[in-house]
Amino acid sequence: MRAARLARMSSTPTPTPSLEGHLAESQAARLASLEEFLRIPSISGIHEYAGDVRAAAGWLADAMRSAGIENVSIEETGGHPVVYGDWLHADGGPTVLIYGHYDVQPVDPLEEWASPPFEPVIRDGRILGRGAADDKGQVHAHVMAAGAVLATRGSLPINVRYLFEGEEESASIHLHDWLVAHRDRVPADVAIISDSGFFDDNLPAITVGLRGLMYAQIDVTGSPGDLHSGSYGGAVQNPINALAQIITALKGPDGRIRIPGFYDAVVPLTDDERAEIAALPFDDEAYRQTIGVPALVGEAGYPTLERRATRPTLDVNGIWGGFQGEGTKTIIPARAHAKVSCRLVVDQDPDAIFAALRDFVADIAPPGVTVTVQDLGGGRASRTSHDHPVAQAAARALEATFGAAPLFIWEGGSIPVSASFESVLGVPVVLLGFTQPNENAHAPNEWLLLDNYEGAIRAIARTFDEIASIRDGGAD
Ligand SMILES: [Zn+2]
Repeated sequence: MRAARLARMSSTPTPTPSLEGHLAESQAARLASLEEFLRIPSISGIHEYAGDVRAAAGWLADAMRSAGIENVSIEETGGHPVVYGDWLHADGGPTVLIYGHYDVQPVDPLEEWASPPFEPVIRDGRILGRGAADDKGQVHAHVMAAGAVLATRGSLPINVRYLFEGEEESASIHLHDWLVAHRDRVPADVAIISDSGFFDDNLPAITVGLRGLMYAQIDVTGSPGDLHSGSYGGAVQNPINALAQIITALKGPDGRIRIPGFYDAVVPLTDDERAEIAALPFDDEAYRQTIGVPALVGEAGYPTLERRATRPTLDVNGIWGGFQGEGTKTIIPARAHAKVSCRLVVDQDPDAIFAALRDFVADIAPPGVTVTVQDLGGGRASRTSHDHPVAQAAARALEATFGAAPLFIWEGGSIPVSASFESVLGVPVVLLGFTQPNENAHAPNEWLLLDNYEGAIRAIARTFDEIASIRDGGAD
């Protein structure tokens, strides 16, 4: 079939269409395809949608095959499947592993959507619908980019593997183990994760750092049941007072975390990195007003942008115990509990941080109560140097496409797979995403700017060429 097409092409004066010509010609079909993808309600976190998640995997696999991606398979993980595909004919060239996810967040509160979440609409240059930005629009852009390059040139300039997950919005429960079991099947030189976005008012950006997480629960138990505070007050420890003492001891008024050893593994930013962050367009007062808080606070000695993305934190996420009803009830409660989490940075190990917290809590626990600390899981931080040749290749592609050199930014949140790629596959990660900061991901009325979607396709194609030129020594 390919030979027949080539023969036909060589006998006609029509030249091979340029990538741009092909993309212009196929735009309407491409948008219709994106809308079809967005119509599948692939909510991974709600059990009733499991069939839809699988339908989205099947839809994606078909789209990848149509684009010319090979060896496409739907891989079982024990949960929602991973969709794999590759194109590996750039002999001797580098191999890039591309990651995105085809599952989406739930849609509640439904009444706040201006149009139904799974009936995408195009309005004011935006496509609106659940998953438009996070992350189906970006996954679709990758498939369309490969399809356009293959359709116009017959080959890709580099080797590419695709790994599209169906559980990112439900904590990537099975992906890490799948990677451990299949690491030999997905060797790569570098991973590109497209599940992030631009900065501020749609300024092109590449994310170079993500924080990790440690999550724990502290349980404090006194007597088997609540006690009368008149009969027993003054004779026994109060679990809520004890918990308050423990929590107060975890962090000082200067915002420094007081758990011994907490900061030992932290790799400080370089002077260049700090300068880069300081140069980002960011205004503390405007930020404060957007959040609606009376003041910004945090660890002394670090500016806000560093505190919210490059420094580790400790926060109480919830606290409960004792009497909370109307009126009064004079008791000494039997129990008190708190959920505590830390955002971590490179090279903090979540297990080591949990152990340090547990040991410190044991040391400072007041007498008269039993205190236990449970590990509720976590993940490691990740960090890429902006000097990495693939980060630089992506930066050149973004600048050529969007007309502005990208900013290198840090995100305070986590993408669990990023650390897994680094630890299981041993590959560096470049976070190349195309959404806007206020795109309503996880919220009602999620949207993606069509210019960014179309730009993403072109920037991805250019990134492939830029990576290939590193191999040729054309750029470094
Ligand atoms: Zn996402």
